[in-house]
Amino acid sequence: MNEAIYILPSDLNNFCYCPRRCFLDHYLGFRRTPKQKIKRLIGSILHFIYTLIKSMILFWIAERLVKSKVYGIDGVFLVGKPDAYKVDGDTIIIEELKTSRSPKTYMHGVRVWFGDLIQVLSYAYILSHKYNASCIEIRVRYRDHVEVFEYNIAYENLLLHTIYEYLKMMDGYAPPPICHPSKCIICKYKHICYLSFFKNRKLSLSI
Ligand code: SF4
Repeated sequence: MNEAIYILPSDLNNFCYCPRRCFLDHYLGFRRTPKQKIKRLIGSILHFIYTLIKSMILFWIAERLVKSKVYGIDGVFLVGKPDAYKVDGDTIIIEELKTSRSPKTYMHGVRVWFGDLIQVLSYAYILSHKYNASCIEIRVRYRDHVEVFEYNIAYENLLLHTIYEYLKMMDGYAPPPICHPSKCIICKYKHICYLSFFKNRKLSLSI
C-alpha cells in the first residue's frame, strides 16, 4: 500500500511562487537564508501577537492544526494551521494575516497573491469538510489592504488543479520551467537553476 502524502498549505504557497524553487527545495533539502530567517522571526512575532488578540480577546480559534483528506486523490491529505477562524452557525470566517503588501491588480477575482490565495483556499477546503458549512468567508489581511471574498466551487477546482501540479513536481520527472526573471534576481538558487543539468531530465540527488 502507498504511504499517505501530507501537504502543507504553506508548501503549496511556496510552490505557487516558483514551482522550480519548490522542486529544488524538495530535492536538495530546504535551508533558509539568513535574510529569510530574520523575516520569519519578525513574521512569527507578529503572528503570535495577532493570534493572542484573536483567541484571548475576540474568542476566535487560532493556530489549531486541522486536516482533511483530499477527495478524489487517493492517499493525499491537506494539513495545516489557519491563523484564525470562527464558526458562526453554518458560516465559517477564516482570516489569514500576511506581513507583506497586497498586489495592486486582481488575479482570480481577488487582490491576493496567487500563493496566498491557494494557501487560504486549502484552509477553506479543510474546514468546509470538517464543519460541513454552507458558507465560508475568507479574509486576507495585508499591511495595506484586507481582501474579503467567499469560497466557491471555482476556487475549489483551482485548488485541486494546483495540488495535482504539486504532486507532479514531487514525482520529480520534469523540473518546472524557469519562472519570472524578477524573482530569480533575489533567489538563492540563481547560480545553479539555469544550468543545463536541470533541463529535461530527472534531477540527480547527489549534487
Ligand atoms: S532562480 Fe528563478 S526559476 Fe530558479 S528557482 Fe529561483 S526564482 Fe525559480
